Amino acid sequence: MEGQLAEFLGGSALELGASHGALGHGHWRYGKDEDGIGWLVLDREDASVNTISDTVLRELDAHLDRIEFNLPRVLVLRSSKARGFAMGADIDALAEMEAEATETLLTEAHRVLDRLEGLSCPTVAVVHGAALGAGFELTLACDYRIAIEGASFGLPEVRLGLHPGLGGTRRLPELIEPTAAMQMMLTGSTAHTKKARDLGIADLVVQERHVRAAVAAIRDGEVEQRGRGLMARAFALSSARTLAATRMRRETEKAAPSKHYPAPHALIDIWEKHGNDPDAMQKAEIASFAQLLQTETSGNLIRAFFLRRTLKNAGGARDDIARVHVVGAGAMGAEIAAWAAMQGKHVTVSDPDEEALGGMIRRAAEICKDEHKDALETRDTLDRLMPDPGEYGVAQADLVIEAGPEKPELKAEIFEGLARRMKPGAILATNTSSLQLADFLEHVPDKARFAGLHFFNPVPKVPLIEVVSHDATGAETRERLLSFCTAIDRLPVAVTDYPGFLVNRALMPYLLEALLMMDEGIAKERIDKAAKEFGMPMGPVTLADQVGLDICLDVAESLSKSLQTGIAEIPALLREKVEAGDLGRKTGRGFYDWSDGTPKPDTSESTGEDLTDRLILPLLNACATCLREGVVGTADEADAAMIFATGFAPFRGGPLHYAGTRGHDAIRARLDEFAAAHGPRFKPDAYWRDVKPT
Ligand code: NAD
Repeated sequence: MEGQLAEFLGGSALELGASHGALGHGHWRYGKDEDGIGWLVLDREDASVNTISDTVLRELDAHLDRIEFNLPRVLVLRSSKARGFAMGADIDALAEMEAEATETLLTEAHRVLDRLEGLSCPTVAVVHGAALGAGFELTLACDYRIAIEGASFGLPEVRLGLHPGLGGTRRLPELIEPTAAMQMMLTGSTAHTKKARDLGIADLVVQERHVRAAVAAIRDGEVEQRGRGLMARAFALSSARTLAATRMRRETEKAAPSKHYPAPHALIDIWEKHGNDPDAMQKAEIASFAQLLQTETSGNLIRAFFLRRTLKNAGGARDDIARVHVVGAGAMGAEIAAWAAMQGKHVTVSDPDEEALGGMIRRAAEICKDEHKDALETRDTLDRLMPDPGEYGVAQADLVIEAGPEKPELKAEIFEGLARRMKPGAILATNTSSLQLADFLEHVPDKARFAGLHFFNPVPKVPLIEVVSHDATGAETRERLLSFCTAIDRLPVAVTDYPGFLVNRALMPYLLEALLMMDEGIAKERIDKAAKEFGMPMGPVTLADQVGLDICLDVAESLSKSLQTGIAEIPALLREKVEAGDLGRKTGRGFYDWSDGTPKPDTSESTGEDLTDRLILPLLNACATCLREGVVGTADEADAAMIFATGFAPFRGGPLHYAGTRGHDAIRARLDEFAAAHGPRFKPDAYWRDVKPT
């Protein structure tokens, strides 16, 4: 602890602790240095990151007693955690709360932050890493924010079906341009260092070693404080706010329809109504937050947040994979290799096509840029990523990931070639999406150390990885792969070697049903709209185009070969498109015209329930089959996998959770209706009859 503090306080902490009697009680430490600067350090006990809880704020209140009594020349708030300032509110505590208790708690929390804001000495938050949600709101109650290079600020509450609840709705629009503040809160976007400075969130951006000098400059009055409320004056008139709010509502409705996502709309309402009255805004923020917390949307989005955490922890801490070799630098291999290198792995990559290897390096640089890596981090990533046409890396690799073309003979040949060169104990994992692992066992070097690592496209955007075990995969191999996925900041879910594994097995009936509807003459725009109205991030026809129609056909054929029931015949239109070479987005044309990079917008009228259920129920039915057959361990894991791999309407809590809210009997009855009308592919799985929703 002392070491960490010393690092973050520019070497002053040991002196602080020793000679100034730093008060270390609970989650905070406070001490005044020889220059009269008070350092208040947040260091949540028993946690590797800071979150803001009721206790953290109560303890802050107690420190403020002491600070008010013996005022420092400047009060500096810092975090002692290597991973950043603070990640937000303590969601575990919030999730359980009733509306009235939430209001009481928030009112008290606001009192503490108002007290911090009202201190008569300058207050400064020094932020390294992320200051998110309540963590960011804590810094907003300070007069100044100093960002260490790499710092980021965000209010992502909308992702939990909420809006900021600790004063953010009032303080951010006072600090920066109000529409930019609203934009940040409505989208939950993050402002990285440069943007934070440009927006006016960060007053200064410095390197760690210059923190003391920056604080001294504030103490000496050399840094001008941004005028509180100055920016808000442009919107002091309610007519100006109404005009802006109307535009915001229109934009927000497109991205987050009010019937599914009430929080951003509630935020626009309170800003429009009270944006010029801080006290009323504060009261409205508290009441609205407490109310939103009780909504089904928020409950389900918080559930998705917990599911993410469960998957993240599935890997455990022990990751012994340092060197990775990737075979194939195509669409998937290049991104897998680049991502792993960015996360600290040493990666070699082979591909007979030299251009593909060059493309991989370019892709890695793009990914680093998209992930806001600085020049040094990008250089380090590229240093760890080695094109290796001679495959010298295979002999050193702890893990070899095969991402060659989806052709069984070619994959068998690749595996046999690797068998002679992989080091003892190394794992071989294939990224196949439609082939079964069991078919390759005679070609692999070591059955117990052979598994699937099914990444999704695009790798940086889709966090899920299916860790696939066949009957002979060793438990240790599975555990090591789960840990590897966690170590590279992805979400692993363990599944078995089943046609399509879990995600494609569940997604394919939904995609095929959409294409069958098109075969029947239903407009693709109508089909896509039905799915989007349900809450899917994009319609199934657009998704098929995105994934690639050749890949869809591969997976569909493999599924229909291996499964007797539950899968539609392959729609004629799909074959026609693939034969014509119209493979979707990648060729500029699929079902939609992608020549300008995006498909035609929806034009059709709203659709009836019928279309939606006919699309979604086959997906639910397949999830039920996978769970009953043990392809995936639990309903929660199935829900998590579908949310994090396909974007399945997260506010519905996942397919099986959603089925539970409708009732299994109702799902079964509806599937029976569809089976009578459209055929046995809709036959309800026994799961709906045998399992009662919890
Ligand atoms: P791709 O065609 O883009 O890339 C395949 C690469 O393998 C090419 O660069 C090719 O030159 C290279 N290659 C060919 N022969 C090779 C050999 N003998 N040794 C090494 N490399 C060789 O394919 P992709 O889309 O990247 O798919 C790769 C694998 O990932 C497939 O098994 C596919 O099913 C799976 N997958 C694809 C997606 C997707 O959406 N594209 C998603 C998940 C999984």
